[in-house]
Amino acid sequence: MASVAAAAYDAAHHHPDAEVRKQNAAFYEFLVPLVKGYSTEMSLEVTSLGVQVHGGMGFIEETGAAQYYRDAKILTIYEGTTAIQANDLVGRKTARDGGTGAKAIAAQIEKTEADLAQRSSPNAKAVHQRLKAAREAFVDVVEFIAANTRANPNAAFAGSVPYLMLAGNLVAGWQMARALMVAEDLLAQGTDAAFMQAKITTARFYADHLLSRAPGVRISVIEGAESVNALSFDMY
Ligand SMILES: Cc1cc2nc3c(=O)[nH]c(=O)nc-3n(C[C@H](O)[C@H](O)[C@H](O)COP(=O)(O)OP(=O)(O)OC[C@H]3O[C@@H](n4cnc5c(N)ncnc54)[C@H](O)[C@@H]3O)c2cc1C
Repeated sequence: MASVAAAAYDAAHHHPDAEVRKQNAAFYEFLVPLVKGYSTEMSLEVTSLGVQVHGGMGFIEETGAAQYYRDAKILTIYEGTTAIQANDLVGRKTARDGGTGAKAIAAQIEKTEADLAQRSSPNAKAVHQRLKAAREAFVDVVEFIAANTRANPNAAFAGSVPYLMLAGNLVAGWQMARALMVAEDLLAQGTDAAFMQAKITTARFYADHLLSRAPGVRISVIEGAESVNALSFDMY
């Protein structure tokens, strides 16, 4: 996802066609809070699992795993906290253009879904199913955010971090789907079989175990605002 964002930044500055530059600039701007917010939040999940794998020894500083966990924690704070990235995603990156840029990304993802649908492998079929469900959840959430940010800001911003995580998960899953197709083609040509098989298995794992979270997060954004805002100050 970070590499895709970097490529979009280059194209936004150096592509000879002004219209392509503009499209890439909008795409890059949307990706920035995802790269900063989603990746850093996921680094906490990964390093927490790293501690867990080593059990009690993982928690002991000398093992080294705990240091990664602690170092990962600062990532969600020092380049703009996760909530600030999420506010940027809701306000400047989604509501300001009425969700047009977000939906343009969803349309790109639909093209990848069409490519996956052409394939006969069980892995491509499974990834296709998960990507479609996640993209549909994303579009629902974008429409909710676009409709509510001005009319009912507390409702829209209550779901800002879940929206950030859903969008980051989807864009990361989309890149996994693209990687799966490249790896399948190279595997069929006999290139580096173990590496390609690992890429395919990783994409399938991501789709089944991470991308599959997206429809649940959709509920959190669209139906979850009331309970976020239900407690008044005197109830704390
Ligand atoms: C090790 C370290 C290195 C740093 N290096 C740099 C550096 O090189 N350059 C630099 O400029 N700064 C640096 N910082 C500062 C860093 O940018 C700030 O810590 C960061 O911006 C968060 O600000 P804060 O700590 O005041 O938290 P606050 O802004 O008080 O945030 C506290 C919590 O409230 C949430 N929050 C705040 N405002 C809102 C809002 N409007 N809506 C919803 N939630 C909100 C935040 O998400 C966060 O969870 C560094 C900090 C650390 C700890």
